[in-house]
Amino acid sequence: LALSGNRRIKYRNTKDELGVLINSYNRMVEDLEESSRQLAQSEREQAWKEMARQIAHEIKNPLTPMKLSLQYLMKMKEENVPGWEDKLESVSRSLLEQIDTLSQTASEFSSFARFYSEEITRIDLDELIGEQRELFDNREDIAFVYENSAGRAETDGRRSQLARVLVNLITNSIQAIDSTGRGKGIIRIRLSELTSPGGAVRWQIDVEDDGPGVSEEDLGKLFKPNFTTKKTGTGLGLAICRSIIEQSQGTITYSRSGLGGAKFTILLPAA
Ligand code: ADP
Repeated sequence: LALSGNRRIKYRNTKDELGVLINSYNRMVEDLEESSRQLAQSEREQAWKEMARQIAHEIKNPLTPMKLSLQYLMKMKEENVPGWEDKLESVSRSLLEQIDTLSQTASEFSSFARFYSEEITRIDLDELIGEQRELFDNREDIAFVYENSAGRAETDGRRSQLARVLVNLITNSIQAIDSTGRGKGIIRIRLSELTSPGGAVRWQIDVEDDGPGVSEEDLGKLFKPNFTTKKTGTGLGLAICRSIIEQSQGTITYSRSGLGGAKFTILLPAA
């Protein structure tokens, strides 16, 4: 992820209205550079290289037009072009939105880069899911159902990363339900045991909702790092989920839920 160093913008009067915008642009570029530096250190893993390549592409695309429109504003201001303030206002709004999205990308990216520094421990899946439920079961309009038919289910992995996968999936379900505008919905998580004919035991976690689900044409892109249908989405969530699960020798797949919306199924080896 080579972001060239000179993407920053120099501006003298950092206190004026344009200066504020340029400051937050510069800060975002620094965040991105820091994340990419962190990632480069751990790039030895092949899966990450591919991820880094795709994300670099995604980040570089909007940077150039952003820098150009800021420079255009600087020029208008310098030459005191009539109406430049109106232009500043409209451009600011869209730039700030893009800066937010890219900053979010940087922070998701850098916590992903910390993946290998977390120790592998034994994880009680029932307890882990229970914690997420505590956290999310706080909306009257969304029923949160949790069913465990596996009993005590343990796996070896990186706990906070696995929690992050659940947080991502539940957050997506909430957003999907909200996007319907119906004002109510259901999220269901099920933990069960799956024994292969050879006798190997795996734990299955289904996270499903009654939102709109994923359209047929989007299925192929679902786990790609740049796929999003949300206005301020990064598209990184599911790509990171998949990397985390695969690093834990597991799988994550999508199918249509019996509830009508999306269903994400995770399989993890039993400890
Ligand atoms: P983001 O949330 O930033 O868009 P994700 O990788 O988490 O990134 O999700 C990518 C896309 O997958 C979403 O924009 C959405 O279109 C689709 N998606 C994910 N989860 C669901 C869900 N539970 N229901 C419907 N669509 C979903």
